[in-house]
Amino acid sequence: MAKVIARDPTPASFVAAVVRPEIRALSAYPVAKAQGLIKLDAMENPFPLPETVRAKIAAAAAAVPVNRYPDGGADAVKTALRRSLGLPATAGLILGNGSDELIAIITVALAKPDAVMLAPEPSFVMYRMNALYAGMRYVGVPLLPGFALDAEAMLAAIAAHRPALVFLAYPNNPTGNLFSTTDIERILAAAPGLVVVDEAYYAFADASFLPRLAEFPNLLVLRTVSKIGMAGLRLGYAVAAPEWTAELDKVRQPYNLNALTQAVAPVLLGESVLLSEQAALLRSERARMAGAIAKLPRATVFPTQTNFVLARVADAQGAFEGLRTAGILVKNLHGWHPLLDNCLRITVGTPTENDALLAALARLC
Ligand code: PMP
Repeated sequence: MAKVIARDPTPASFVAAVVRPEIRALSAYPVAKAQGLIKLDAMENPFPLPETVRAKIAAAAAAVPVNRYPDGGADAVKTALRRSLGLPATAGLILGNGSDELIAIITVALAKPDAVMLAPEPSFVMYRMNALYAGMRYVGVPLLPGFALDAEAMLAAIAAHRPALVFLAYPNNPTGNLFSTTDIERILAAAPGLVVVDEAYYAFADASFLPRLAEFPNLLVLRTVSKIGMAGLRLGYAVAAPEWTAELDKVRQPYNLNALTQAVAPVLLGESVLLSEQAALLRSERARMAGAIAKLPRATVFPTQTNFVLARVADAQGAFEGLRTAGILVKNLHGWHPLLDNCLRITVGTPTENDALLAALARLC
């Protein structure tokens, strides 16, 4: 007689039986609700677009045949990017649905069974998360106090673990600083695999590895348009030798860049004067905010080359809650990493938003 296998037929029991335990142990990435608040938590560009540019976007969007799949090669976006970056024709270029997707693509492509991903900590949390998703072993090397790379520890970790993939955010999120060029050059020279220099904040920084691609066969420069005014479009790009991008392109989903983004991004990338004026204003506001916050009692402001200011205050949780009550949302980093004790990450907003932030902080600190 056939044996009847008793089983508990609930969704939870199926989930427990088949979903990877490391996935079940996670909580989904928390995106704070910001309705009605001054939003200084996510490094977005705070400026609404001028009416003339909105009209251009509307016209471009209206012409999109949304009944058809998008151009799988996203040629119009690539052409606009190559032009605005002045890329040599020989450079490989791959686009992602945000640079988040490119981090996932790169990780999946390199995740051989025993492969290691290496990154300094604290840095962008999605590096580690993607190592976990792809089943790659992750090694984190603490930054020095003050957030410089611990070059000797990084080189020792490279020698010990032979990482297939190294992520360096340049400038770093959430600390805001640029790492030393020499340290990165030493890492590029020592690494046996790909080194991703993630330049999400390039528009607010005084340095870039993009012009140096030809010098390093294992360098990939990752960028996004999210911080320069297009976070809603979800568009990231990676530039590397074509030998790298050709392999990564095999992991990319065929239509990863939707048709509306493909139509609108070239319009905005063409507004180079507007984009650079906004970046310049954000840089000067950043200096104003950093100067004012540094004068608050028991506050420390760290050097930043991004569109956010990292500040240590006496009580980050109290300041975070007080700001929220005042209608301002920032990021409380307390508890993320020992180096970030009592730190707040404050995105630079419009001058009016920054005035509100500074007034509220002065009351709270
Ligand atoms: N890299 C870094 C260093 C970031 O800070 C961010 C956004 N917080 C990203 C990549 C992802 O950006 P996006 O997916 O919007 O392109």
